[in-house]
Amino acid sequence: MKYVSTRGRSAPVDFLTACLAGLAPDGGLYVPETYPRIARPEPGESYVATAARVLKAFAGDAISEAEMTVLCEKAYASFAHKSVAPLVQLGPNAFMMELHHGPTLAFKDVAMQFIGQLYDWALERQGRRMTIVCATSGDTGGAAAGAFAGSRNVDLVILHPHERISPVQRLFMTTTGAENVHNLALEGDFDVCQSIVKSLFAEAGFVEEVGLSGVNSINWARIAAQSVYYATAQAAMGADHPLRFIVPSGNMGDALAGYVAARCGLLSGFELICAVNENDALRQVLDTGRMSRSTTIATPSPAMDITVPSNLERVLYEASGRNSEAIAALYGAFAQSGDVELPDTIKGPLGCMGFSATTISNGDTLAEMRRIKAETGWAICPHTAVGTQAASRAPLSTATDIVLSTAHAAKFPETVEEATGERPGLPTRCVGALGAEEHFSVLPAEQGAVREYILKLAAGR
Ligand SMILES: *Cc1c(COP(=O)(O)O)cnc(C)c1O
Repeated sequence: MKYVSTRGRSAPVDFLTACLAGLAPDGGLYVPETYPRIARPEPGESYVATAARVLKAFAGDAISEAEMTVLCEKAYASFAHKSVAPLVQLGPNAFMMELHHGPTLAFKDVAMQFIGQLYDWALERQGRRMTIVCATSGDTGGAAAGAFAGSRNVDLVILHPHERISPVQRLFMTTTGAENVHNLALEGDFDVCQSIVKSLFAEAGFVEEVGLSGVNSINWARIAAQSVYYATAQAAMGADHPLRFIVPSGNMGDALAGYVAARCGLLSGFELICAVNENDALRQVLDTGRMSRSTTIATPSPAMDITVPSNLERVLYEASGRNSEAIAALYGAFAQSGDVELPDTIKGPLGCMGFSATTISNGDTLAEMRRIKAETGWAICPHTAVGTQAASRAPLSTATDIVLSTAHAAKFPETVEEATGERPGLPTRCVGALGAEEHFSVLPAEQGAVREYILKLAAGR
């Protein structure tokens, strides 16, 4: 199994190199050279067994089957629900796939718990240490902290927008007590945090010097690990039953994982609606073919407050017929002007890939949380509500809707209370974080300040 860059100017690499690097050296994203054909789960196959099989197919010879099974067993032992991604019925022909049973109550745990195991295993074997830097609009940071706290071979540096994430989200990152977890609160928004991370990776000497690595939504291991629950959903609903996935989307990593699952033969077809909030750059590209940078709007679903959906590059790469020249040119132009029109050679095929998008306003998100509470008694998180509302607006279909429930309501207690009048309590397994001491430093949102911090950290070990 080899991985190539969407921009075509980096050499192909193996699975571990792609995952440990995050971004490719040419600024592109790694994708498999060819998608492996993976058998659908047999009835009764456990989540861990399916995960080990799917991830082994993506890893190729890099990891043995037995080793992959151990990594998956360890990763998913931390989940409160043994099915990892259980389905619950939402309506006559609709289900919710609950992806929030991990240690930090968001779907990002599903991939991050695996990455934590993968990195520790790989770095131990290579006798290396790395500095992982990640930008978070809320849930990635907590999931990374949960996955890497106490890891022997990794220093984790998390950048979050100061005072723009919910207090509960912050607690999951800042209270691990682990010496290898470093939280930086930057005085700017998430897009600034993300662009600082990107610019750090653009400096090859620095990357080398501090052993820099990233676990943001673009990391291939995340996409691979997320494709597993699409496979288990298909198996649970019947191998050939048509499904339509509705995915609360920001950086589009979750949605892309569905596409990848389909490409590997794990789904009976492919139809996926990206449910987005008022930051709807993704809907704009899919509907109009225009990619333009805009300022971020605060919404009740902050983990989706994304204006440049990073994984879109992988989708456009496939739409272009894997034309890395076209992708490099497109993203070069976008970096210059922040506003580009997709060429017809990409726009046409993009419209036939099975993706669509629906925008849900801030007001409609809260109304949807109220509606679901009234109809089912469930408190759902605002991100999930964007998904269920998008599902209710979708054209009637014979396919069964699967709405991905991406976080636990208790992670956003203020919003849930505002919408429903009731404040959800944290599950007992998480209450430890509430009274614990927080560790974070406030820094200006400048690349230089973050760079300096990481250099000192690397020099000190
Ligand atoms: C990260 C996140 C999303 C968006 O996922 P992407 O892969 O970035 O599209 C949606 N909901 C929640 C709760 C999240 O944490």
